[in-house]
Amino acid sequence: MKPPPFGYSRPESVAEALTTLADLGADGKVLAGGQSLLPILSMRLAAPHHLVDINRLHELDYVRVDAQAVRVGALARHAHVLADEDAYRAQPLLRTALRLVAHATIRNRGTTVGSLAHADPAGEMTAVLALLDGTVRVASAGGARDVAAGDFFLGPLESAVQAGELAVEASFPVLPAGAGTEFVEVARRHGDYAVCGVAALVQLDATGAVSAARAAYLSVSATPLVLDLTEAAVPGSGAAPDFAAAADAARGQLEPEADIHATADYRLHLAGVLTARALEGAYRQAQERSRA
Ligand SMILES: Cc1cc2nc3c(=O)[nH]c(=O)nc-3n(C[C@H](O)[C@H](O)[C@H](O)COP(=O)(O)OP(=O)(O)OC[C@H]3O[C@@H](n4cnc5c(N)ncnc54)[C@H](O)[C@@H]3O)c2cc1C
Repeated sequence: MKPPPFGYSRPESVAEALTTLADLGADGKVLAGGQSLLPILSMRLAAPHHLVDINRLHELDYVRVDAQAVRVGALARHAHVLADEDAYRAQPLLRTALRLVAHATIRNRGTTVGSLAHADPAGEMTAVLALLDGTVRVASAGGARDVAAGDFFLGPLESAVQAGELAVEASFPVLPAGAGTEFVEVARRHGDYAVCGVAALVQLDATGAVSAARAAYLSVSATPLVLDLTEAAVPGSGAAPDFAAAADAARGQLEPEADIHATADYRLHLAGVLTARALEGAYRQAQERSRA
């Protein structure tokens, strides 16, 4: 099918984009990589009056790493973030997760910030931002605000980016010393959206014991869900971590829904298995990084 007719602007600077978006208000829609928006338009699931194409905003095409965070500009494609060695060293979860996002052709075009703004509960990067307590900088003609991950995802395909606004940058905190991360998922075919996926972070203390264990889920709830599983994973001081108990604790707190891809029971089962697997992977990485 073909999209319904729409107006089109291609601003040359962020300032021009923000003025255009402010003028359009609810009639405007941002076009980034188009990997989600164009299929939606072609299927006529949305009919925006006007698209504001941000592909000439080269000032937003960056991946920057500092002591606090990996900062990803709105025009950085998934492939760019995935390949960035400094970003990988500072926060390896980005590459681990991005390898699971669709196929190479889609990653070459789709943007990481666009995937956050799109707020698909099956999107890997939504779970990554949520797990890491990252932020998204949202700009408008009136100024900019930083929105914490916990406030950014409002519902399925609904983020905190309002009409007239542009998400300009996502910040993913660097991995602290003694911490490790992992991302695992099950999809029907390689590159498909996951039936269920889990991102995990494990923090070790100076003695090598687990001091924190968290997991974030995709495809099990309307917005990315983060569970603190430390208590279940660490039964007592000095005890070895019990990731099977953490998986049980997670199962007890999740209420996935059925859809055409999976029953609710199957998703819950997967969530438990993947929780244990993700926590074990994160634990191993934390141990390796502590030894290095
Ligand atoms: C076949 C296929 C398989 C896919 N599989 C996966 C997958 O497994 N995992 C996954 O995470 N994704 C998957 N995707 C989606 C892909 O990651 C998209 O690139 C991404 O979700 C959206 O990024 P985009 O730059 O293409 O955004 P667009 O499609 O251009 O925009 C998507 C939405 O976000 C808004 N938007 C985009 N950028 C901004 C911005 N800077 N500020 C404000 N609003 C903005 C748009 O207005 C629109 O509403 C798949 C896509 C396809 C076609």
